[in-house]
Amino acid sequence: MTMGKIAVVGAGTMGSGIAHVVARGGYEVILCDVEQTFLERALGTIDKNIDREVAKGKATPEEKAAALKRIVPVVDRRNLAQSDFVVEAATEKFEVKAQLFRDLDRICRPEVILASNTSSISITKLAALTARPDKVIGMHFFNPVPVMRLIEVIRGLATADDTVQRVRELAAKLDKTPIEVNDAPGFVSNRVLMPLLNEAMYAVMEGVAKAEAIDEVFKLGMAHPMGPLTLADFIGLDVCLDIMRVLHDGLGDPKYRPCPLLIKMVDAGWLGRKNGRGFYTY
Ligand code: NAD
Repeated sequence: MTMGKIAVVGAGTMGSGIAHVVARGGYEVILCDVEQTFLERALGTIDKNIDREVAKGKATPEEKAAALKRIVPVVDRRNLAQSDFVVEAATEKFEVKAQLFRDLDRICRPEVILASNTSSISITKLAALTARPDKVIGMHFFNPVPVMRLIEVIRGLATADDTVQRVRELAAKLDKTPIEVNDAPGFVSNRVLMPLLNEAMYAVMEGVAKAEAIDEVFKLGMAHPMGPLTLADFIGLDVCLDIMRVLHDGLGDPKYRPCPLLIKMVDAGWLGRKNGRGFYTY
């Protein structure tokens, strides 16, 4: 079966990045969001980001124009019936994704794979809402999508080998490296990363060191490109808290309890880089 037309559902930070790499990979993209203005914003972002590739000599102006032409923005979900493969990158709320997976299952042809870019929601649970659980899979891209090489491929309990194989093939066409993991809270990336960030927050809270000092320890001592608190601000402190709650609830171990300082900062509306204040001021 061809994977010629790929639908990207949700045109936010991740959806626009995914549409960018899929279009640059030569596929037709159906980019879907709930409002035209969100689609326009995404197309503007993609245009600007491909300009960067042109400036670095990684794409020609003709390749840029061809990639942009391959992206068809749609608000009406019924257009997704034409897609050969779906990557869902909508808001990280279970009810939103649950409704979407039910609708996608109804709208898309039965052989179409439904992949989710979720950071934390169970693939097994989303799959169970459809009549094709063997064709539901996690395809976890990393931000910024055009730059980061990894796709964490998450196998739900019912995901078929053939589905995994086709996702691997697509990843290779997009010049990404797929790493396969099983479905569990936080998968591998957030299961291992978030407790590190959370522990760095405890160290600030307990006065072990200042945020700057902790970040320098990781940059200079562990060769991390950015320290854990800078990274937490970059990801968004509300997102970090949501993920810690998923780990705590899903694994039931107190070692995953969210740091009280993190909870307090989110309560104060200090969400990190996106609104100017987190462990640092922007
Ligand atoms: P975002 O808020 O920037 O974008 C989400 C988009 O989905 C919005 O434009 C919203 O209008 C749209 N949307 C909501 N409901 C929809 C529906 N029913 N149909 C179509 N579009 C709908 O969020 P994001 O950061 O791009 O995250 C998207 C997904 O990617 C989430 O599942 C998130 O966990 C995951 N993710 C995010 C990151 C990250 O660093 N931001 C990294 C990896 C994975």
